[in-house]
Amino acid sequence: MLQPVLRFAPSPNGYLHMGHAYSALYTAQWARTMAGRFLLRIEDIDRERSKPEFTEAIFLDLHWLGLAWEEPVWRQSARLPAYAAAADRLRQRGLLYPCFCSRSDIAAAATGTDPDGAPLYAGTCRHLGHAETERRLASGEEANWRLRTEAAMALTGLLTFTVAGPTPIDRPQIRYARPELWGDVVLQRKGTPTSYHLSVVVDDAAQGITHVTRGRDMEPSTDIHVLLQMLLGLPSPTYTFHKLILDAEGRKLSKSRGSQSLRTLREAGWSAADVRRELGF
Ligand code: GLU
Repeated sequence: MLQPVLRFAPSPNGYLHMGHAYSALYTAQWARTMAGRFLLRIEDIDRERSKPEFTEAIFLDLHWLGLAWEEPVWRQSARLPAYAAAADRLRQRGLLYPCFCSRSDIAAAATGTDPDGAPLYAGTCRHLGHAETERRLASGEEANWRLRTEAAMALTGLLTFTVAGPTPIDRPQIRYARPELWGDVVLQRKGTPTSYHLSVVVDDAAQGITHVTRGRDMEPSTDIHVLLQMLLGLPSPTYTFHKLILDAEGRKLSKSRGSQSLRTLREAGWSAADVRRELGF
């Protein structure tokens, strides 16, 4: 049997908190149970929010937790040509179109919300004429490149994927993907040749990831990932969605809300064993 390959893939835009620690320990535990490989991938495509000091802190915090991973560690910032090539393949098939809308344009025209609760893109620029699109691109106007989700789904037909868990011995289940809930997602952001969805799919395939373990908050994104895998002819890993660590008010921990980082806990005297025990490992 193929040796399982798992990854923990944090974004270096803040210090790791207990939610990340749970995800990393969970992934490492699955890898151990299945005699698989454990990889670490730094998802640093967001040039404004990613900082080298946060990447260094990720290495330090994970070492402190007692985790070991294979070298070299992939950094997505070094993989931009691979993402651009994948997007080009979709563009050549007429599956991408440039969108010039601002955030407020999108909010004003929104037809609902996406699974993350953000305004659902109404498809405004999908209806722009070819001449206008070409003129605006030629004049240097920046665009987000979006997927023609409906056209893409017409090509792939019904999509399924495999969900395993909650433990490695539970029988996997087959699920239908519903990418239509996201509308025309952005695959290339203004000024970058990629977006989260595109790079995660390209890299999971390039690194031979067989099992993706991620928090339940990322469960809906998987529907888009499965669609992209099918369009790009990439294998679809098995997915496991783990519980989220909540704060005292029952909210998901978040860097932006200033949830206590592992380093703050460490400075306050917590040991790695304390963190593991608190999280049930
Ligand atoms: N980089 C993503 C994050 O930090 C997770 C990657 C994934 O599981 O797709 O939230």
